[in-house]
Amino acid sequence: MDEGHIAADLTNVLYTREQVAERLAELAKEIDETYRDKDLLLVGVLNGAVMVMADLSRAMSIHMSMDWMAISSYGSGTQSSGVVRILKDLNTDISGRHVLVVEDIIDTGLTLSYLISNLRSREPASLEIMTMFRKPEAAQNAVDVKWVGFDIPNEFVVGYGLDYAGKYRNLTSVGTLAPHVYS
Ligand code: 5GP
Ligand code: MG
Ligand code: MG
Repeated sequence: MDEGHIAADLTNVLYTREQVAERLAELAKEIDETYRDKDLLLVGVLNGAVMVMADLSRAMSIHMSMDWMAISSYGSGTQSSGVVRILKDLNTDISGRHVLVVEDIIDTGLTLSYLISNLRSREPASLEIMTMFRKPEAAQNAVDVKWVGFDIPNEFVVGYGLDYAGKYRNLTSVGTLAPHVYS
């Protein structure tokens, strides 16, 4: 696909589609090994994790089911408040299931903290997290993430499922926006 028009809005490409795919293949192998004999349920967090879910699941080779949650942070602006509202809950009863939460990006980790304690109360057999990207601030909150695609600098990034004002999710690479986009 020629995405030149959208890609022109990036000042800096952090990871190309190929680099993302290569890293996902490595993680898929590890995740396959971990859940080889288990009944695995991947839980994708809408909307951002759609691309990761699609690519990770197809890079894996074991049986799995998939389900989705949509959550929204209360709070204004770009700062996460940690107060979260469930917009769409799972269709699946996860009690006794092996659950792997698939995330696009962890910034403060506040959203994920809420999600994890909510899911834990449903008594899954196991509960782990995979995220494609993670920012430095995540270290300050005790969210135990088992698989991380890339640790990235503390910048606002778009592409590969991540949006700015609802757009750029379909950009196959991930990068920072050029200043002219904001003005
Ligand atoms: P947290 O609660 O970890 O601070 O926020 C996580 C959510 O904020 C992510 O699921 C994502 O929706 C959004 N977010 C955090 N950092 C970025 C970023 O760099 N770019 C985009 N597009 N969204 C981000
Ligand atoms: Mg997310
Ligand atoms: Mg967003």
